[in-house]
Amino acid sequence: MKKENKIVQHINQIVEEIPSSTRLIAVSKYHTVEEIQEAYDGGQRLFGENRVQELLVKYEKLPYPDIEWHMIGHLQRNKVKFIAPFVSMIHAVDTFKLLREIDKQAEICGRIIPVLLEVHVAQEESKYGFSIEGLMEIFASKEWINLKHVSICGLMGMASHTDDQERIRDDFKQLSRCFKEIKQNYYALDDNRKDTFTELSMGMTNDYLIAIEEGSTLIRVGSGIFGPSTKNMNTH
Ligand SMILES: *Cc1c(COP(=O)(O)O)cnc(C)c1O
Repeated sequence: MKKENKIVQHINQIVEEIPSSTRLIAVSKYHTVEEIQEAYDGGQRLFGENRVQELLVKYEKLPYPDIEWHMIGHLQRNKVKFIAPFVSMIHAVDTFKLLREIDKQAEICGRIIPVLLEVHVAQEESKYGFSIEGLMEIFASKEWINLKHVSICGLMGMASHTDDQERIRDDFKQLSRCFKEIKQNYYALDDNRKDTFTELSMGMTNDYLIAIEEGSTLIRVGSGIFGPSTKNMNTH
């Protein structure tokens, strides 16, 4: 009998313990095309990368139409055009200017690109992510409604980098509250939009079970599937 490899074992273990309403993104950054191929052969179809250059290389070497490539890292505006033709979802949209650029590039490609807005709730200082007030301002301004080539599907965020489980849970609760409030105020009552704001991307290797308890629909798991990476994992 063929021994199942470690990567596929890890994926299967995670899929067994999460509800079917939560999808698993295998975060393959810093890992090889061969490792992604193993995961693919085991049935995994959603992959997450955090750097455009690396995403492009992997997309070209693994041209399977049924892979969903998720861009989960910080994205510079001048790089949107490279991934616009094929990316399945952009998670970390953190300025209105970036949202507008994605809309523009999506129009050029004749696509509507699903995106998530990144919200900063962790205790660490970060240059990335909207504050909750900043996010509410974006929605209140109504400008986003004019962007016809992006579909704002939900929110993304990260919990504080800590062992304090209650702190992590509080961060996810904040994200979840914010998600529900926006859904209620800007989507639920609009027939054209009401089924489009559905994704809450939160939870990584060390905290995905807490994230799911707090309402996550997309978990982003890297080291828990592919093993630790020797490169700096904090580049976001
Ligand atoms: C690397 C990364 C992950 C995965 O982190 P792990 O702790 O290895 O599971 C998730 N989300 C983002 C944005 C990342 O950059």
